[in-house]
Amino acid sequence: MSNDDRNERHKKAMQRRKEIVDEKIAQAQTERGVFIVITGNGKGKTSSAIGTAVRSLGHGFKVGLIQFIKGTQATGEVLYLQDDPNLYLHQMKTGFTWETQNRDADIAAARETWSHALPLLSNPDIHLVVLDEITYMLKYGYLSIEEVLPAIMNRPAHQSVIVTGRAAHRDLLENADTVSEINPLKHAFEAGIKAQVGIEW
Ligand code: ATP
Ligand code: MG
Repeated sequence: MSNDDRNERHKKAMQRRKEIVDEKIAQAQTERGVFIVITGNGKGKTSSAIGTAVRSLGHGFKVGLIQFIKGTQATGEVLYLQDDPNLYLHQMKTGFTWETQNRDADIAAARETWSHALPLLSNPDIHLVVLDEITYMLKYGYLSIEEVLPAIMNRPAHQSVIVTGRAAHRDLLENADTVSEINPLKHAFEAGIKAQVGIEW
């Protein structure tokens, strides 16, 4: 095939693709916030949610970041974002379960952390609420799906929510607008490479 033929063929293919994309854009008419779940065993769930939070903050929106994390070490993203007046941040920080071995204390910490999420999920001034690692609170039964899902689904119409964590409850997957499952094809840790500051936390 001559170069001209190839260019012509490419141009036609691009035109067809543009028509399809334009049609899809024309069909997407609903304007409302979305409920996103980022799950799976691969690396990139929290960092994806934080990336979207930065995206919102960059446009001057208010963002709530509630982290159901056990580690007490400050992450780079929190060090970077914590002074942003548009960010409402709360972290559970209970220490690891296998260290505390106190289920009642874990439940109390989860409930206390959830109590910081609830007002955000009913505040129309908040553009995006990130519920980082909340899937484990449901998995361990520290929080119930019967209280978490309605709070997400009844949020203000223009608010978006991102839930992260492995083994997301199926009711979350069913009700979410967007679900991404990150599949670990490889992870450096398995090759004996140490977790690194600025990359892993
Ligand atoms: P990140 O915060 O890097 O986006 P994540 O939120 O997808 O990761 P988590 O399950 O929350 O992953 O685990 C957090 C930590 O575990 C991070 O340091 C991350 O690099 C690491 N990690 C994530 N997935 C894996 C994996 N498949 N194997 C080993 N370590 C992992
Ligand atoms: Mg994470």
